[in-house]
Amino acid sequence: MARMPAAFLGHGNPMSALEHNRYTEAWRSFARSAPEPSAVLAISAHWYVGRTAVTSMAQPRTIHDFTGFPQSLFDVEYPAPGAPEVAQRVAEVLAPVEVALDESSWGLDHGTWSLLVHMYPTASIPVLQLSIDASAPFHELVALGAGLDPLRDEGVLILASGNVVHNLSRIEWQSSGAGAPWATRFDERVHAVMTREPTALATLLDDPDAALAIPTPEHFVPLAYLAGLAGATGEAVRTLIQGCELGSLSMTSYVLES
Ligand code: ZN
Repeated sequence: MARMPAAFLGHGNPMSALEHNRYTEAWRSFARSAPEPSAVLAISAHWYVGRTAVTSMAQPRTIHDFTGFPQSLFDVEYPAPGAPEVAQRVAEVLAPVEVALDESSWGLDHGTWSLLVHMYPTASIPVLQLSIDASAPFHELVALGAGLDPLRDEGVLILASGNVVHNLSRIEWQSSGAGAPWATRFDERVHAVMTREPTALATLLDDPDAALAIPTPEHFVPLAYLAGLAGATGEAVRTLIQGCELGSLSMTSYVLES
């Protein structure tokens, strides 16, 4: 079985699910260039809870976890099957960390499906989600990422979904295709670390621009898993696409391919 890549993709505004732009095109071309996965394990900013859990239902529901968007976005369904046997494997490879098997509470949130509608539009590849334990320190999330590496040899595509810079209180709706100076600076510093020494990612938490770039951690910490995977294998991190949008969002995306 082909070893699978892993990725951190900047998911941006939920409307990305219905749009076609240079970011959605990058997600699509990444999926096309990768071998076909046996399953996708998504680590979304939007399942940020008090424990590590993995969805283990046979048919995860599509969760519309937002308000104030057009009905057309609420009409999006992503009916991919689940992968209960892969969920079991996730718990095995992460042991002794306790991973709860979630059979009913979660499903696929928009951090996951807004990417997958572009990457795998037929929704035929099984998908499961791994929650982010909000109580875990950053270095533990890096270690969890490293622990997922064996799954890549079993055909599982690991897909972290968040944003390097994510500050909704600083959105500038007129700033299409641009970031505020602090957002661009922080994005560049993260880029330098991810492409040179990804295991040093935690140092960015003390960056002077971090307070604005990461006002809350949930969109940034999915990147910790990719840093952990890179550190575990020594693989070079490739920049899939780089850029900021609306002043305070980074859409920069990274991949590991070996
Ligand atoms: Zn989000």
